[in-house]
Amino acid sequence: MRVPFLDLKATYVELKDELDAAYRRVMDSGWYILSEELAAFEAEFAAYLGVKHCIGVGNGLEALHLILRGYGIGAGDEVIVPANTYIATWLAVSYAGATPVPVEPDPLNRNLDPGKIEAAISPRTRAILPVHLYGMPADMDPIREIASRYHLKVIEDAAQAHGALYKGRKTGALGDAAGWSFYPGKNLGAFGDGGAVTTNEDELADRVRTLRNYGSRVKYFNEVKGFNSRLDPLQAAFLRVKLKYLDAWNARRASRVSEYLERLKEIPDLELPYVPVWAVPCWHLFVIRHPRRDALQAHLREHQVDTLIHYPIPPHRSGAYQDAPFTRGSFPISEALADTVLSLPIGPHLSKPEQEQVIDALLCFVRPKGDHAH
Ligand SMILES: *Cc1c(COP(=O)(O)O)cnc(C)c1O
Repeated sequence: MRVPFLDLKATYVELKDELDAAYRRVMDSGWYILSEELAAFEAEFAAYLGVKHCIGVGNGLEALHLILRGYGIGAGDEVIVPANTYIATWLAVSYAGATPVPVEPDPLNRNLDPGKIEAAISPRTRAILPVHLYGMPADMDPIREIASRYHLKVIEDAAQAHGALYKGRKTGALGDAAGWSFYPGKNLGAFGDGGAVTTNEDELADRVRTLRNYGSRVKYFNEVKGFNSRLDPLQAAFLRVKLKYLDAWNARRASRVSEYLERLKEIPDLELPYVPVWAVPCWHLFVIRHPRRDALQAHLREHQVDTLIHYPIPPHRSGAYQDAPFTRGSFPISEALADTVLSLPIGPHLSKPEQEQVIDALLCFVRPKGDHAH
């Protein structure tokens, strides 16, 4: 049996009746842009997070981009970003015309290290953009404390953090604003692209709402140079169905993770995710580290287990930022992560027998020396 990294089709199979009904409702409504369906999802997601505003946008990159634009952050400004992240975090800053200033992660938490932020702040810094990578919350209290001392905005990249908790509070409700992605593979995923901005600030919400729709509040009155970045009503309708299952499906992930943590803990050289006492991760990804990562991945592939690497090339080493003043060695912790991380199959539809196969394959790769027959 082949164990897929993530089974997206299973999502549709489990929720087929409700999703098909949502599809017919939108098709029958005759409204295919903006609409009450979108407004209903926005209200429901805002209520889920306990925030005042949710604005549905085209995707996660746009969500972060429009927040930055909404704050007037652009050319000449700097934004602190994690060195260890998916490149979209950086690209959003570049897209707005500002400069991403990377900061190394805490090697255990793998997220922005609050102890290293102050050294990266300059007179041009306008915001800190922490990411809750892999669904593990960043350490937000010290980040917010630094931000308030330097009068910076805190913009959360919550694209991997749907339903994760930091000190009992929902990620995406901890900063000034948050950008969300509903890319199909995310914990709250659509059946196509989608994203959202959430915030408690009335003014930012109003700006983002205007910017996503050609800079107009009233049709054909374009107050500012806006964009076209609206969450589809069809995707909003699907997301309303899936939002009802988010916590339950995150709980399924967590039970698989408990199994992984228990069964894999004795394996030498294998580093399991570290969970701080204040964190309830939503386990978007289950990321282990191993010094012989490539050999381990090949071994798992031979045993019919699909894995992925999040991410093989840190943004500062990618072609996209080859003009920036970074080299190999600029961010050694992030580079070491890129060389050693491996994401095991995880998801609401990973079955027990599938997980058993993953664990067995891991155990037979990294058995203690004494166990080998010579
Ligand atoms: C997925 C993701 C994004 C971008 O979301 P899209 O919807 O694909 O544009 C941004 N940041 C992080 C950390 C992500 O994982």
